[in-house]
Amino acid sequence: MTRECQEPQHWLMINALMRQAILAVQEVMGEQGLNIVLREAGLERFIGNPPPDDLELGIHASEYAALNQAVTSFCGRAGRGMLQRIGRASFRYGVEEQAALMGLVGVGLKLMPQKTRAKFILNQMAKALMDTNPEACEIVHETPEGLVYVEYSCTLCYGQRAEQPICHLLVGSVSEAVKWATGQEYTVREISCRAMGKKACAFLVEGTV
Ligand SMILES: [Zn+2]
Repeated sequence: MTRECQEPQHWLMINALMRQAILAVQEVMGEQGLNIVLREAGLERFIGNPPPDDLELGIHASEYAALNQAVTSFCGRAGRGMLQRIGRASFRYGVEEQAALMGLVGVGLKLMPQKTRAKFILNQMAKALMDTNPEACEIVHETPEGLVYVEYSCTLCYGQRAEQPICHLLVGSVSEAVKWATGQEYTVREISCRAMGKKACAFLVEGTV
């Protein structure tokens, strides 16, 4: 699961991930909201026609980042909470549609302690991304404050510059993943963001120690 992390060159991502995000935007913002956001993001081709549920590297990071940006500008101050909800729904679609890829079929989670479960699901997310994309690089660290999910190839903030972390969608996905695995809600904070000039985006799951 360890991979030498290099700056991605092609910045592509699999169709299934964009599909999950688009279905999630629709669930949270409704079909009209989704269509407005897709137009704003220059992604009209996905109106009424989401990407297929496959593992082809058919999406460029700039498109995913544009979707993220369009939700932010459409929702204004509510954008952060909205993106977190979209991230949560994205994870649920991921589990529904790609359970095998994520290595979640027939896993005896209940037999594991809480922390092991949280670490397990974060590792599985990282592994699924790296198995399907040679440029992806995600690592799970243990720190005294809790587990940290480090995303070196974050497509959400691709090409963006910001004073504050902006990958709220991934905060939602990590939160939902840990909740899915443990049955408990943990606070997740983005403690480093590539949009702020850092090397990676990093998400602390508080209290998973
Ligand atoms: Zn990011």
